[in-house]
Amino acid sequence: MTEVFDFQISGKSALVTGASSGLGWRFAKVLAQAGCKVVACARRADRLEELVQEAASYDGEIHAVAMDVTNVTSVVEAFDQAVNLVGTPEITVNNAGIAIRAKVLEMADEDWLSVLDTNLNGVFWCAREAAKRMEAAGCGGSIINIASLLGSRVLPGTANYSTSKAAVIQMTKAMALELARHNIRVNAICPGYILTDINQAFFETEAGQNMIQSIPQRRLGQASDLDGLLLLLASPASGFMTGSAINVDGGHALALG
Ligand code: NAD
Repeated sequence: MTEVFDFQISGKSALVTGASSGLGWRFAKVLAQAGCKVVACARRADRLEELVQEAASYDGEIHAVAMDVTNVTSVVEAFDQAVNLVGTPEITVNNAGIAIRAKVLEMADEDWLSVLDTNLNGVFWCAREAAKRMEAAGCGGSIINIASLLGSRVLPGTANYSTSKAAVIQMTKAMALELARHNIRVNAICPGYILTDINQAFFETEAGQNMIQSIPQRRLGQASDLDGLLLLLASPASGFMTGSAINVDGGHALALG
């Protein structure tokens, strides 16, 4: 007898933050291609126009909604709009994030505060709102936080960023513990180096090229390298997974020791 594995998420409502570029763009597209009704969020909704238009070419459904993850009012309003457009999101991908490289002795207050505000506070505001909506609707679902390999490792110049991502991993576990009884799962994806706008300039430098050589697979990841884990965590196939933080890094964590 053939077993059926349940990766089916067609018809589910999903919300993705920071969807106007890089990984967020890809996550919104992949979920729409899997049949989800997707609300793509960005600070400027007009930046999502191409993503929304392109969805028609594969019969996907993507709606553009403005959301600044650092502003709680904006987060709540975006969820209000999402519920009106597609119903309560049962899948929320907390992807919005920034990186400002600075050594500790030279780090400006603003470089510390803005990274923590976006990468940590922003994830909490969205995850909490997603959980409140699912609890109220009684539907359960999956919250996927985008952390980083730097949530468990450090490099010079990343005190702000790695601290924020380590905190996201702990937050993921703390939320998973409390929300399990509401049938809400919370997991984190920890990407290694994936080529996007956030790091393109760095990988053009000599230090960046050397970094690629330190990755066991000797290559950067592509956004598509995260598709499989995204779909797993979004779907019932991962129904017994919560509080997990999973590296997708070409083996980089192993090389960092
Ligand atoms: P990116 O710069 O292309 O995307 C980040 C997105 O977040 C952008 O669309 C940006 O506009 C949005 N954003 C920033 N501040 C925001 C705010 N206040 N409100 C709403 N949106 C905001 O970079 P990316 O590589 O696609 O990064 C996506 C996520 O993946 C980030 O959380 C990043 O830390 C994480 N990540 C990336 C890598 C990588 O190698 N690319 C590795 C590990 C983790």
